[in-house]
Amino acid sequence: MTMTAATELNERESSLLASVPTGLLINGQWREAASGRTFSVEDPSTGKVLLEIADAGARDGADALDAAVAVQDQWAATSSRERAEILRRAFELVTARADDFALLMTLEMGKPLAEAMGEVKYGAEFLRWFSEEASRSYGRYSANPEGTQQILVAKKPVGPCLLITPWNFPLAMATRKIAPAIAAGCTMVLKPANLTPLTSHLFAQVMMEAGLPAGVLNVLSTTDAGGVTGPLIQDSRLRKLSFTGSTPVGKRLLADASANVLRTSMELGGNAPFLVFEDADLDAAVEGAMAAKMRNMGEACTAANRFLVHESVADAFATKFAARMSKMTTGRGTESTTSVGPLIDAKSREKVHSLVSDALADGATAVTGGAPVDGPGYFYQPTVLVGVEPGARILSEEIFGPVAPIVTFKNEDEAVALANDTEYGLVAYVFTRDHNRGLRMANRIETGMMGLNAGVISNAAAPFGGVKQSGLGREGSLEGIEEYQYTQYIGFANPNNA
Ligand code: NAP
Repeated sequence: MTMTAATELNERESSLLASVPTGLLINGQWREAASGRTFSVEDPSTGKVLLEIADAGARDGADALDAAVAVQDQWAATSSRERAEILRRAFELVTARADDFALLMTLEMGKPLAEAMGEVKYGAEFLRWFSEEASRSYGRYSANPEGTQQILVAKKPVGPCLLITPWNFPLAMATRKIAPAIAAGCTMVLKPANLTPLTSHLFAQVMMEAGLPAGVLNVLSTTDAGGVTGPLIQDSRLRKLSFTGSTPVGKRLLADASANVLRTSMELGGNAPFLVFEDADLDAAVEGAMAAKMRNMGEACTAANRFLVHESVADAFATKFAARMSKMTTGRGTESTTSVGPLIDAKSREKVHSLVSDALADGATAVTGGAPVDGPGYFYQPTVLVGVEPGARILSEEIFGPVAPIVTFKNEDEAVALANDTEYGLVAYVFTRDHNRGLRMANRIETGMMGLNAGVISNAAAPFGGVKQSGLGREGSLEGIEEYQYTQYIGFANPNNA
């Protein structure tokens, strides 16, 4: 495993950064924060500042919501075709500028360029998918069983929304909310994570180029998330909160949202079990494990957090998996040799290392890795741990790093009990050649999603979301647009009886 030295920004990187809007987007204008404050965005692979951008305060928040409220009725009255075509143009613009979006994400978030390109494709698909869904939002017309009334059911936009996104997928987490909100006819205020706001700024600029009217999308980057969003959540004109982030913050926002009985969608944390049965194709399982663990350096809510492996194949699986992990190259995401970027910041790396240190102190063994990488940036060695005790902290907390703890099981019942031994329920991965067993696992494991012999299953056409403390609601697919609609029913006298 090697690490490339931190580099200065090259000309291409500097000119891309110079093209990113640094203000707040309010009512179609990029402007400074009312306080005049700014904050810096860093490159996690060097710790160096990339750009200074406006730091919104409560006053800017109020202006952004005013703008969203002011155009809500007019926006809801546009035809679904008009909204669909804006989304389609945005899809084409993002696709045409895929290199810029990928590089910007690599710079501010650290993921290798190839992965960032993957996210651009995935993130852009929500624009294409919801451009197609915009006009496919059907109501219904029926008679009541008594035959005395007709029932007309319509879908309506919920109204102004607050969208809060995390730092780990700066483009896709935004498009997964913005695209269905546009398709449904909602206006919105987006609050991106302060660690990675630049991608949202570039994306918002592209949405304006695609023809989105002023005020429909407003963007507030801030270092005071609670101070800016708190008053918006208390404002009775806001109709919806869609949040992606950690479970503790999600719970707090849910409590705050109860004051106005706000519609909420919550995409929260995960603790995905990755099950390998004795009949699994081990090479396919290792391939799946690499994808489920190492995508985004392990900084994904869907990241495999616990490897539960049948005792008869555990040694073989650990050996093959560790061999693959030890060949990964840590480095700045812009280098073509890099397969593992840095973690997002020093705090995250410390947390990952404390989980590993605790597991090692309790008797686990690192087959590979087990330590931070020296030098600038927040790199951590790809790590495989065996002999992890059930009940270890590393099995109950989200690792959010390139660390794979392996636990063995003896039979199906034990595997299910281990898999369900968590308050989370986002996704599970199951590797087995027995499809009946796979479907049995889907019945018995409590998660909103399952990968059956597959290590990555996110797709714009699939309903993404969790159960238990992993969240409420679904993003993507047919369900995604419904999160931004309410159902209205009109009962009227049967005209035949009049
Ligand atoms: P986080 O700390 O909960 O932050 C998420 C967002 O919430 C950020 O924009 C953050 O702003 C904002 N925020 C923090 N405190 C807030 C408050 N009091 N009021 C309003 N907003 C507040 O999570 P993160 O560290 O960015 O992201 C990692 C977490 O997200 C993990 O738990 C991961 O599993 C989860 N996640 C879930 C999904 C899913 O679909 N289920 C997808 C991706 C990530 P600032 O950062 O600017 O302070």
